[in-house]
Amino acid sequence: LDAVRAVEPRIAQAIADELDAQRGSLKLIASENYASPATLLAMGNWLSDKYAEGTVGRRFYAGCQQVDTVESIAAEHARELFGASHAYVQPHSGIDANLVAFWAVLSQRVESPALRRAQVRQVNDLSEQDWATLRRELGDQRMLGMALDAGGHLTHGFRPNISGKMFDQRSYGTDPATGLLDYDALRATAREFRPLILVGGYSAYPRRVNFAIMREIADEVGATLLVDMAHFAGLVAGKVLTGDFDPVQHAHIVTTTTHKTLRGPRGGMVLCQDELAEHVDRGCPMVLGGPLPHVMAAKAVALAEARTESFRDYAQRVVDNATALAEGLLRRGARLVTGGTDNHLVLVDVSAHGLTGRQAEAALLDSGIVTNRNSIPQDPNGAWYTSGVRVGTPALTTRGLGAAEMDQIAELMITVLTSTRPAADASGGASKAKYALDGAVAEKVRAQAADL
Ligand code: PLP
Repeated sequence: LDAVRAVEPRIAQAIADELDAQRGSLKLIASENYASPATLLAMGNWLSDKYAEGTVGRRFYAGCQQVDTVESIAAEHARELFGASHAYVQPHSGIDANLVAFWAVLSQRVESPALRRAQVRQVNDLSEQDWATLRRELGDQRMLGMALDAGGHLTHGFRPNISGKMFDQRSYGTDPATGLLDYDALRATAREFRPLILVGGYSAYPRRVNFAIMREIADEVGATLLVDMAHFAGLVAGKVLTGDFDPVQHAHIVTTTTHKTLRGPRGGMVLCQDELAEHVDRGCPMVLGGPLPHVMAAKAVALAEARTESFRDYAQRVVDNATALAEGLLRRGARLVTGGTDNHLVLVDVSAHGLTGRQAEAALLDSGIVTNRNSIPQDPNGAWYTSGVRVGTPALTTRGLGAAEMDQIAELMITVLTSTRPAADASGGASKAKYALDGAVAEKVRAQAADL
């Protein structure tokens, strides 16, 4: 850090403080992890200085031999690890990977001169008029994705994301009685709506998804099945999700992040069958800026790590730990969406404790337990305050914690949740944000959390 400190000490301090914060608290955010030193080091180097628009062997810049090497190795690891025909490792994030995939499907399946013209520009550069022409020619193509409050992601056709502008979207949800994905209802909606793209995958659904059934539904209605496995890619890589639950075996196209359960650098990736490969490879410059060669190098390292026996063991322990955490919480009276988990995350319905997700998230943070608030199905508190807290085990499993520690964490979480009360807002009414938690309780839990 000395080199950074010599130039901008405040940044060196922020980096050191982040390390302290991560060491001194329990990182239970389901989408976070700890990348290995090899992965981190592969990112912090001179590859970062290189421009390399295009694809391997077809670059718009000279001198890209090393970038070609890096990109081919990352793609080779991705193909072999996931059993995919084609891998595109350039996307800078999960959102970018989805955008690449959406445009790839549109350009494969829809005839549109405006789309062809747009191919040479970045989506963000398109004017409102360009969009209007595109929408007219694309004929309001349809996307069917999982509802946000059922655990879906913004990029699956929702308004705050550009996918909500690109597509006429409808959602499928979960059974109100069980909280489980309702495949019959999904099939009925797909038959009626006939989407171009059926999106599978989630950010906050604590169960496995049967992608064999989803492919059957997609085929029946002529949709392309796109699965966003951003959250559970590590469980697919680690062969915990296999057969019907492995999206790569069933979907036409699969997108992912590389930094969640997969434990790589921040970034994204697209896997697809051969028919879509040429469309996916146009991701840059269609919707992506120049590739990040240093991040592709780190992806290659992380993917190589994910091909080891020890990563398989890790992936299984992530799920075992989530199960232990869920059981510990249930035993102490918590209410969990779907009644448990069979992946890496648990969704706690904190309305059972008289709290909003926002109050619970803040009280847990005061106590050294880092989670994030999350909507639950039919959430009365909306997406800002929410009624749930999402917890996940990928990061703590990397730190080596096991089932016994998960039980202790369940105890600490319940102590905080049962000791927190909603407080009144300025006008004396019940606040959805303010809360009261005894400082001594928070202090005690924080000390115990730091010891784990
Ligand atoms: N897709 C899913 C299912 C996600 O959960 C997320 C991240 O939360 C993303 C995409 C977006 O990933 P990124 O933040 O890397 O753009």
